[in-house]
Amino acid sequence: MGQIEGQIWDSARAEFVGGVLSWNPEGIIDAVRTAPSSEALFVVPGFVDLHVHGSGGRDVMDASPEALTTIAVQLARYGVTGFLATTLTATAQDLARAVDAVAAYKESDQGACILGMHLEGPFIDPEHRGAQPQERIRSMDQREMQDLLGRANGSIRLMTMAPDMPGGLEGISWLVEQGVRINIGHTGATLEVADEAIDRGADGVTHLFNAMPALHHRSPGPVGLALSDPRVFVEIIADGVHIHPRVVKMAFAAAQGRMVAITDGISAVGLPPGKHHLGELTVEVDEVAVRLPAGTLAGSKLTLDQAYRNLVSWGIDEAVVIQSLTETPWQRIGMKGHGRLIAGLSADFVVMNRDRRVLQTVRRGRPIYTAPA
Ligand SMILES: [Zn+2]
Repeated sequence: MGQIEGQIWDSARAEFVGGVLSWNPEGIIDAVRTAPSSEALFVVPGFVDLHVHGSGGRDVMDASPEALTTIAVQLARYGVTGFLATTLTATAQDLARAVDAVAAYKESDQGACILGMHLEGPFIDPEHRGAQPQERIRSMDQREMQDLLGRANGSIRLMTMAPDMPGGLEGISWLVEQGVRINIGHTGATLEVADEAIDRGADGVTHLFNAMPALHHRSPGPVGLALSDPRVFVEIIADGVHIHPRVVKMAFAAAQGRMVAITDGISAVGLPPGKHHLGELTVEVDEVAVRLPAGTLAGSKLTLDQAYRNLVSWGIDEAVVIQSLTETPWQRIGMKGHGRLIAGLSADFVVMNRDRRVLQTVRRGRPIYTAPA
C-alpha cells in the first residue's frame, strides 16, 4: 500500500486537482482525496502504447523473454505502464515465433505490462509498405491466421491490414468474428473500400497519414475516412517528423476523443544514433528519426512522454493529450473506463515534474522506474 500527494489528474473534470492518491496492498487505488498540495508533482494515469516494436536495443521479433523484458523495462522510463508488443511483416515462421514468445511470457514485476500483441502486417499493400519488407508481404491467408490465433491464446488484440488487398475485406469480417480488432493501414484503399472495411467491423486506422495516400479533396481515402467517421480510432505519431505538427493539430480537432498517440518505436529507442536493426532490416538513426538507407522513415525513436510534451507544445489542450495517451488507447482495445485515477482501478500512474518530465512510473502500486535524483 502507499500514497502520493500532488496534482492528481481528474479525468472526469479534465484537470489536475491537488490531493492524495492512495492504494491498497494489492496495488488497487482505494481513494483519491482532495487536499491542498504543492505544484511540484503532477500525477497522470500510466501511458499505453498500442504500437511499439521495440526499445533498448531489443525487438519484439527477437521472440525471446529477455527481449520482451528489456522492452517492458525500457518503456517504463517513458511513463508507459502497458503496451501491445508489435510485430513487423515477416515470414509465417518468424511471426509464429514472436507470437509464441508473447503467449508464453510470464508477466514479471519489472517494467510495463504486455497487454497483448499488435500484428502490423503481413497482409498489407506493397505500394504502401513504408519500411515493411516487400518480399514478406502476402495476401490474407486464413489458415496462417488460424494457426497464429491458436498459438496466441487470446493475446492478439489488434491487427493492421490493407482492405484493398486480395481477400482483405473478407479477412476483416472473419478476424473480427475471431475477436481481433482491426486497423486499416499500410493501404492504398479508396474511401469506398475503407468504408466497407469499417462496415465489416474494422474500427481503427494505423499511423494516420503514414503509409497511405495523402488526403485529396476529391479522393479522401483512408485519411478522409479516419477524420470523418466517429466509429474509427486514429493512431498518430507525434514526433514532429512523421507528420507536420499543424497537421497533427488538425487531426486532433477533427477526431475528438478518438485519437490514440502511439510511438511506432523500434529497438533503437533509448540508444545513441548510428546503425541499428528493425526486424531483418538495417536502419540509420539520427537525433530525431529512423530511416532506411534510401531515406524512408522506418518506425520512430519517439517515446510517449516526449509525444506528450510535443503535443502540448504544439497547442493541443493538455486534457486532450492525456486522454490520447491513457483512456483512449484502453478504450481502443475494449477496456472502456480504464486509464483513470479512480478507486477500484489498478494504481498505474506516472509522476512528472512541472516540465512534464517523468520522475517515476508506478504499476500496480509498485515503482517500475525512478529517475536518477
Ligand atoms: Zn507501420
